[in-house]
Amino acid sequence: MSTEIKRITHLVGGNSWTGVAERTSKVYNPATGQVTGELDLASAATVDEVVKVAHEASRAWGQTSLTKRTQVLFAYRELVNQHKDEIAALITAEHGKVLSDAVGEVTRGLEVIEFACGIPHLLKGGFSEGVSTKVDVYSIRQPLGVSAVISPFNFPAMVPMWFVPIAVACGNSVVIKPSEKDPSAANAMAGLWKEAGLPDGVVNVLHGDKEAVDRLLEHPDIKSVSFVGSTPIAKYVYENGTRNGKRVQALGGAKNHMIVLPDADLDLAADAAVNAGFGSAGERCMAISALVAVEPIADELIGKIKDRMAKLKTGDGTRGCDMGPLVTGPHRDKVVGYVAAGVDEGAELTVDGRNGDVDGAAEGFWLAPTLFDKVTPEMSIYTDEIFGPVLSVVRVPSYDAALDLVNSNPYGNGTAIFTNDGGAARRFQNEVEVGMVGVNVPIPVPMAYYSFGGWKNSLFGDTHAHGMDGVHFFTRTKVVTSRWLDPSHGGINLGFPTHD
Ligand code: NAD
Repeated sequence: MSTEIKRITHLVGGNSWTGVAERTSKVYNPATGQVTGELDLASAATVDEVVKVAHEASRAWGQTSLTKRTQVLFAYRELVNQHKDEIAALITAEHGKVLSDAVGEVTRGLEVIEFACGIPHLLKGGFSEGVSTKVDVYSIRQPLGVSAVISPFNFPAMVPMWFVPIAVACGNSVVIKPSEKDPSAANAMAGLWKEAGLPDGVVNVLHGDKEAVDRLLEHPDIKSVSFVGSTPIAKYVYENGTRNGKRVQALGGAKNHMIVLPDADLDLAADAAVNAGFGSAGERCMAISALVAVEPIADELIGKIKDRMAKLKTGDGTRGCDMGPLVTGPHRDKVVGYVAAGVDEGAELTVDGRNGDVDGAAEGFWLAPTLFDKVTPEMSIYTDEIFGPVLSVVRVPSYDAALDLVNSNPYGNGTAIFTNDGGAARRFQNEVEVGMVGVNVPIPVPMAYYSFGGWKNSLFGDTHAHGMDGVHFFTRTKVVTSRWLDPSHGGINLGFPTHD
């Protein structure tokens, strides 16, 4: 089967880039294994070209009234909603996740646009009248200039949307650097800004790899960097970006634990473990990869999980399956390597996805859902973020042992507890050292008006994504002290200003 290979390039100043790239990379359809696109990778000079356009556009956009900015945001919200299915199709074609999941991703991104539509309210400052005689103090929030958004492969539409609508609403220009693995959704979404009436150059898409990221991290006109990806790169981006004086929020990897207490509803817990473990083939930063069963319920819970796994359909995301392929061949091989390592290290391979049935082309990057039991904390399937459809059950004797496991982990993105005991749940949300906590909710991704972010190695910086953290991240505060005197007033006084 031959597929037409499309050229995918940068979107600069509202138009496709017309230059010639020195380097390109291949984009695949993971369900067929076929190359579908050839992606231009930016050189440092191309980064400079794009940032220059963004910088120039930021001046006028930052001065545009809140009323006009809000009108653009509302129009953009309508357009993304109208084009939801097309964007989802692009995601499935390059990421592999099933169509319904891709639509869900766009929907969660839409929530951030809706939040950003409230920007006139969100940007209101404080005003203190008469702090001293005839002296008023007030605070205002102003845009930064140009913001860079560097995103991972696993949410090619939603993760850019965590940042871009808020950055734009706050009056900034943006340069989005999507993942090289599935770049088309970012282009499609950025194209809709033009239709919504956003001036050219305010939102740009720059494709590339390390070379592009490194230049963004040092470019003097990039004022902030919002990064999402693996922990080693998040740390690198945070350290280099801040060294160059930029504001950086860098969200990293995860190893999310779901604790099931003996009093939990085990059917609910089994549903949740399967959904959160294998949805999007485990390629979610909020996926559950460690299931901590507090004894004596492990055998019963595993039985229920196996029953559910037997009904899952793995295959091409356009065919109504439950789970799609992994994103690339090398990533699939890496995940399969972890399955082999788990067996070697002595874990019990309860369901082997390497032998699973697949509804898709033989050349696709497949691994069916895989379940390990009797996993212990020193095994690599427990210590590492596998980022695939591999769920590891760790058996512990008590709540305290479960909590200790979660709190000893270097990651702290998401976690969940399943229980019918309100006191235990309340204790857990207080004691656990993780940024996002679910109580009988396996993937506790906060709504757009709260902020998304983990603790420990899951986030570098102190600002989480969207919600009020987003508004603060994309603006600088200015405090004005003003005095309007009666015309009769005057006089010289060189003393330090105090209150009277
Ligand atoms: P990645 O770190 O490989 O890539 C992320 C971005 O960094 C991409 O745009 C990529 O081009 C760029 N990049 C890659 N290598 C680089 C280098 N050496 N120097 C500079 N830039 C580089 O991550 P990924 O594989 O695309 O995404 C999966 C990871 O992202 C997982 O670890 C997952 O947990 C994490 N993630 C975290 C969150 C979160 O909110 N914490 C959300 C989604 C994904």
